[in-house]
Formats: sequence, C-alpha cells, structure tokens
Amino acid sequence: MTDRTPTQEDLDALSLQLGRPVRDVVEIPARCRCGNPLVAATAPRLSNGIPFPTTFYLTHPTITAAVSRQEAEGVMAEMSQRLQEDEELAGRHRQAHENYLQERERIREAAQLEPVWEIEGISAGGYPERVKCLHVLVGHSLAVGRGITPLGDEGLDLIAEEWAPQVCTCATAWDHEAEIPTRDLSRHVRRLEQESTDG
Ligand SMILES: [Zn+2]
Repeated sequence: MTDRTPTQEDLDALSLQLGRPVRDVVEIPARCRCGNPLVAATAPRLSNGIPFPTTFYLTHPTITAAVSRQEAEGVMAEMSQRLQEDEELAGRHRQAHENYLQERERIREAAQLEPVWEIEGISAGGYPERVKCLHVLVGHSLAVGRGITPLGDEGLDLIAEEWAPQVCTCATAWDHEAEIPTRDLSRHVRRLEQESTDG
C-alpha cells in the first residue's frame, strides 16, 4: 500500500512528535484519520549498523502519554501476572510475538534490506512471555489492526477516553510550528557514530 511509504512530510511530523530526528523509518503502518503518523516502522538494522528489534514505534504524543499513564498505574505487572495464569491468553500473546516477527520480515523484504541475524526470534515489549513495554504492544495493535495482539488491543481499550481512532487530537498534541529537529544529539547516538567512524 502506497500510503505506508513515508513522505518527507511524514518524517518531519515524526521528528516534531518525538522532538528528535527520526532515522531509518521505512513505513508508516498506522495513521490518524487526518493522515498524520501514529506509528513508525523502523528498519531492522539501522544505517549505522545497529540491529533494531523494535519495529513498531508509537510516536503520536496523545497516545504515548496515555499509555505512559497506564504503565504508571501498574498495568504491565498485572498483564504479566495474567499471562502466568491464563493459558489461552498466553498462547495468543505468543502468537502475537510470531506476528511481530513475520511483520518485521515483510517490512524488511519490502524495503529490500538484508536479514538481521542478531535479532532473529527476538521481538520487543516483553513478547513472548511477558509485558515489559505497553507502548510496543499498542504500537503493534495499531500497525496490524485488532485481533492480533490481545494485550495491545486491551491497551487501546484502556486509553479509549483519551484517544480513539475516530478522534483527531493532532492540532494540540505537538507544536507544528517548531523548528524540525534535524540532528540527533543524544549521547547514545553520538557515541555510536563515533564508534562507527573509529571502526
Ligand atoms: Zn490527526
């Protein structure tokens, strides 16, 4: 689908949403009803060579903030506990992990990128056994649609009063007039760049 291909406008919107330049975004798997990105799909290997298992990254500030509030209320521990006790839920959570890996492969092939052996079988967010990041699960749910990740779908239900697909909060969710961040100055990235230059 062509509306998954990121435009420069999409990349600028992502950078403004996150307050830092985005890198290696290969698809926009979910959009607001107005067209702005909700989730960015990142290449499984960054252009600096680093393997990157978190394929689906939730970027929309309204949703990330609402999910953070759920995390602060202890939802992840509660979900992880249920995975220990509910075999049916645990099975669907493991299937969601498999879907995550399949989607990464589809995205990799569509972007004509080489396989990334370092993250083979490794997804994100606590899959396949736990819940370590609700943002990952909600991003996955938005990217692939409902019915794939039961706990990602549940995360969307939990934030329904703050964000729902039929409502656009983009106008107030981030500063659209801000200067677009063009250089990632995080120490982590600077160090990685330094290492790749030295190497
Ligand atoms: Zn919108």
